[in-house]
Amino acid sequence: MSEYGRRHPMNEKEPPKGKTGNRFAAVLFGMTVGVGGVVGYNEVTDKNIWDAFDADHASAIPSVPRPTEVPSVLPTLNMSPTPKPTKTPRMSPTPSVTSPSSPASKSTPVGVFMPHRNANGTVSGASATYRGYTPEQVRMMENCGNNTDRVLLTIDDFGTPAHIRAMADVLKREHVGAAFFPNTKQVSTDAIEDLRDNGFWVGNHSYSHPNMAPMKPEQIKAEIEKGTDADLFRPPYGATYKDKKDGVIYFDNDVEVAATKLGKRVCMWSVDTRDWDHQTAQQITDSVKTHVRAGSTILIHMRDEYKTLDALPGMIKSVRERGLEFCALPSEPTTSEIPESLPCDK
Ligand SMILES: [Zn+2]
Repeated sequence: MSEYGRRHPMNEKEPPKGKTGNRFAAVLFGMTVGVGGVVGYNEVTDKNIWDAFDADHASAIPSVPRPTEVPSVLPTLNMSPTPKPTKTPRMSPTPSVTSPSSPASKSTPVGVFMPHRNANGTVSGASATYRGYTPEQVRMMENCGNNTDRVLLTIDDFGTPAHIRAMADVLKREHVGAAFFPNTKQVSTDAIEDLRDNGFWVGNHSYSHPNMAPMKPEQIKAEIEKGTDADLFRPPYGATYKDKKDGVIYFDNDVEVAATKLGKRVCMWSVDTRDWDHQTAQQITDSVKTHVRAGSTILIHMRDEYKTLDALPGMIKSVRERGLEFCALPSEPTTSEIPESLPCDK
């Protein structure tokens, strides 16, 4: 069993006292992960979040039942029902990634961010608050196997072959290692093999990018199995959804459990550039500049219509100006077997 597996809450014999239910749902307070995670490609407000989701995905992606309640926990997974939170966390209008308390000078490396436990039992990661996880588990989910001070770039979804290649070319030129998380419905096996041949890690981001939170276990399993064959898995939208009624964002544990059963490690992120949110290249770069820390996992996308490719050189430069370096690009081709500890500083 992997290190991740041993640490997984499902593998612990006894749940912590008084947290039996809570451990199966993590509440994400952050607008950054939350709204981005849920809708991804549209300008979002609390009111239009599901309308935007539907509108943006109706044509391309099979619809799934819209959740109206807290995700029910599935009997086959032998889990306790997820409790309805008694309090509604406030959605913060400000970015949930906390800026360093004092602005770092150009050459000052920033410290490694460690998730910390809050008084109410939740754990604050770099860009979200989770319920039912230890700080170490949150750290492992957010760093995706990068246990170094280096910064890991992760690139999601899909784009044309030329666009994906152009992004890969910039990264190669700059010797920046990165993990791509393509949807196999829109990204060909050839493109995935090409990325691996060039030293990039390629993880599973499902087949068609559904919101998996309300899906049945067999649907979740099928989506993951039709996705890229890989040890790392990033849930579409961070596997979150927003309950219209109480405004709470949940991390859906069913998805994590299904992925873990398929032998995959869940990879979240700690810095959302919001490139999906009509950001200019400068805004994307500024977002990285402001929020990046040692050991950060940055989320960007490979879609042609975003300004991410234009932002990439400036983004790389700004990280280096902060005294940080990216994960090294492996000189050998990668495979579906992604090391639990990424060789970032090799
Ligand atoms: Zn995605």
